Parts: sequence; C-alpha cells; structure tokens
Amino acid sequence: MKQVIVIGGGASGIMAAIASAQGGAVTTLLEAGPKPGRKLLLTGNGRCNLTNLDPQITSVYASSNWDEAQLMIRSVLEQFPVKDTIAFFEKAGLLTAVEHGSYVYPVTGQSASVLDVLLRVMQSLDIKVKYHEEVIAIEKNEASEEESARWNVRTKTWTYHADCVILSCGSRAVPSTGSNGNGYELSRMLGLDVTDVLPGLTAVSCAFLQPDTKAYIPGAGRKNSPAGNAESQASQDPLSAASGTRTTALVKVYADGKAIASEKGQVQFTLNDLSGVVVFNLSRSVVRALHAGCEVMLSLDLLPDLPLSRLEKLIRSLLERFQGITTRKLLAGLVPSRLIPAVIAWHEQSGMSLAEALKDFRLQAIRLRRFDSAQVCVGGVKVTELDPDTLECLSEDLKGIYLTGELIDVDGPCGGYNLQWAWSSGYTAGTHAAKE
Ligand SMILES: Cc1cc2nc3c(=O)[nH]c(=O)nc-3n(C[C@H](O)[C@H](O)[C@H](O)COP(=O)(O)OP(=O)(O)OC[C@H]3O[C@@H](n4cnc5c(N)ncnc54)[C@H](O)[C@@H]3O)c2cc1C
Repeated sequence: MKQVIVIGGGASGIMAAIASAQGGAVTTLLEAGPKPGRKLLLTGNGRCNLTNLDPQITSVYASSNWDEAQLMIRSVLEQFPVKDTIAFFEKAGLLTAVEHGSYVYPVTGQSASVLDVLLRVMQSLDIKVKYHEEVIAIEKNEASEEESARWNVRTKTWTYHADCVILSCGSRAVPSTGSNGNGYELSRMLGLDVTDVLPGLTAVSCAFLQPDTKAYIPGAGRKNSPAGNAESQASQDPLSAASGTRTTALVKVYADGKAIASEKGQVQFTLNDLSGVVVFNLSRSVVRALHAGCEVMLSLDLLPDLPLSRLEKLIRSLLERFQGITTRKLLAGLVPSRLIPAVIAWHEQSGMSLAEALKDFRLQAIRLRRFDSAQVCVGGVKVTELDPDTLECLSEDLKGIYLTGELIDVDGPCGGYNLQWAWSSGYTAGTHAAKE
C-alpha cells in the first residue's frame, strides 16, 4: 500500500493527512511540536474564521507569480471549494454560522472545536500521528530500486520511508506556534526556489509626514508623551495624541507616488502603528513595496462617505454660521477628538485646504511589525515549482514531493481566506499523493 508522510500538523497538514488516508494511503503525520494545530487555535481571536462565502474568492489572493498562482488557486479551490469545506466539517459534526454576510465560524465560537473535530476524523482514519518529530532532512532513498519508499524522511531520532511526502510546515508567522520558517529550509535543501519571505497581515508602523522639509518625524518616543493632553503632544509628534483612536477611513497605498491598493473600513491608531483589519489587508501591498525599495505613503480619507465638494461647502457654512470658531472646534463634529491635532498639523504643513487635509491625510509607512505579530507571510516556495493541479513538485527529481498551505507563495486577506487555502491545498495534495 502507498505510504504517505505529511510533515506538519497545522491546518493544511491535517487536511492533507485526512485526504491521503481517505484516498487509501497509509498515512503518517510528523509534527515538530508537542501538539497539533497550535496556530489554528489562535485563529479568529480564538473563534476560527474558517472560510468565507465570497463568490470572488479566487481573486483575493496574492503571489509573486500572479499568473501561475491564479491557475493554481482556481484549480485547487475547484477541487475543494468553500461549500465542500463547510460540508466536510458538518459531516464531521461541526456546525458553522455566517457573520457579516460571508465570514464562516464554528457555531461554538471556539477554534478548539475545529481542531477537536479534525483530530476525531484523523483518529477514525487510523492516521499515525507522531509528536516531537521535527523533520531535518528529506532525501532520496537510493537503496530502493522500486518506485515504492523512494523518500527517506529524517528526524533527529528516526528515519521514515515514504512513497510520497507532503510538506505542510507553514510559514514564519508567529514562530512560537511551530511554523518557524524551517519549511523554507527543507524546501531549499530539496532545490526548490523560495522567494524572500516577509510578514503580512499585520500593523504598519507610520511616521507623520512633513511635506515642506521632506523629512519625517518617526513615531519613536511617543511612549513618553503624557496621556490625555492632545494639544501639547501634537507639538512634539502629531500622531501621539491620536493613539487609541478608531475611525472609519478609505485608506489608499501609494508606492513612489503610484496608487497600488485601497480599502475602506475601520482603522486604529496605536502608539507606533496604524492597525485594524483594513490596514492588515493593505499591509500585504505595503510590505511588497517597501521591500522593493519604494517610498510608501498611506493616504487616509477620514470622511469617505462625503464628497470633497460637499465637505468644502459644509466647512464654509460652519465658518459663516459660527464666526471666529477655531479649527479645533470646527473639527469637533467631523473627526474623533484625539485625531484633531494631527489633522490640524497636516492641514498647516501640507498647505491643503481643511477639507482636502481631511480627505487626504497622509502618513509615511516605515515598516511592518515583525513575524511574531504577523498573521501570515508574504512569499514562500514559488508557485512555478509546483504542478498547479496536484501541488506536486514539477522537477523529475522531486516526484512524490507535495507542498501545501502557507509554505507556498500564496497569501490571502483577513476573513477566512488563508484557512480556506490551507484546507483546499491540503485536500488537493493529500488526494493526489494517495492516488499517484
Ligand atoms: C493570530 C492568527 C490569527 C489567524 N486567524 C485566521 C483566521 O481567522 N482565518 C484564516 O483564514 N486564517 C487565519 N490565520 C492564518 C492561518 O492560521 C494560516 O494561514 C494557516 O494556519 C496556515 O496553515 P499551514 O498548515 O500552512 O501552517 P501552520 O498552521 O502554521 O502549521 C505548520 C505546522 O508545521 C509544523 N512544522 C514546521 N516545521 C516542521 C518540521 N520540520 N517537522 C515537523 N513539523 C514541522 C509546525 O509545528 C506547525 O504545527 C491566522 C493566523 C494567525 C497567526
């Protein structure tokens, strides 16, 4: 019988093991850590946003090789679409509920339920699971003259033999969950091409832009600012006072002056960063542009539902009606109070009208938060290394080696898309490995 080894007990590895066992292969899962699904437990703030009903799902992902990636994403999501994911979990005893129109969560509201159900299915299929088994090398079994057992999978204490090996080692995001980037090393050892890997879906550290001087006031030192005194802080750093503010904005990303991405929703100002789901999603474009050496600017439309002409008219009428009103007081009903000093500073320094400053409040993106606070990684093993229909390596030398999940250079936005990629890629690789 076909022997399949899956390396990594995260979302995609567990699904790959299940698909492989369902396909009739003798399946072993090797996990470096003491337990499986450590990252899965963190997902959705412990609630696990496990997929998304978005009809345009195949178009939301990103990759360094977009044309090839699109073929792969379409094929993989066709083989295990969202409806099959929901049906799979329901059949296994996990009911789901939809929030915000398309975000799918377990009805229990607990990611632990998702993991429990997956482990139950693995057990029912007699999948062997070994913990504390970190794979350190994958080598051709030269001794084997037949097609069978053509791969040796070495851990510190043992060498396993397999016909097919599925690498599901994850990325480098939140390394404490076990996905510490060594999947990239194993891939490189096999000769696979890996892109630079960057943190994605995370906050963006920003600096207040001084347009006249072309210099930037970095966010450093804001921690020392006294809380609650917005105007005195604004004189040191206009962003300090905004810390803790949440507001709805349309955020546009400019790389060397060219608009590259935009999204509307709630943004959050923290001491050093701009955060919130919108910023997380845009961080994928920001990090790619910063890595390419571009100057990256975020433009926030702080009143996205009000056209510029109407805002200008409103401000004019307020100035006429309330003679002598200060800019600060005028802004009181337009933006959250803690944001006012920064808007005033931007208005004064940019030379824009107040309405323009509100519709185009600019910050410079300096860097992204580190891997330990990133939800995913941007980059990974190049999609051009893999058969888009099976996720098996294309190289003749690597027949029988498959990849899944975040290890591949495909990343999605917040909303259940990354887990759907994990389920679909795991299913695809597991099914084909068993079939081969
Ligand atoms: C805080 C947080 C919240 C998130 N929330 C969501 C969400 O709500 N919805 C969503 O869609 N996505 C979410 N994501 C993203 C999602 O969790 C990941 O995209 C997904 O878990 C990736 O699955 P994976 O199988 O590729 O990797 P992982 O889940 O990271 O699993 C990789 C596994 O491989 C093991 N491993 C690594 N190297 C070896 C080795 N050499 N030998 C043996 N084992 C090894 C690791 O220990 C780990 O268990 C979130 C991520 C984070 C960090």
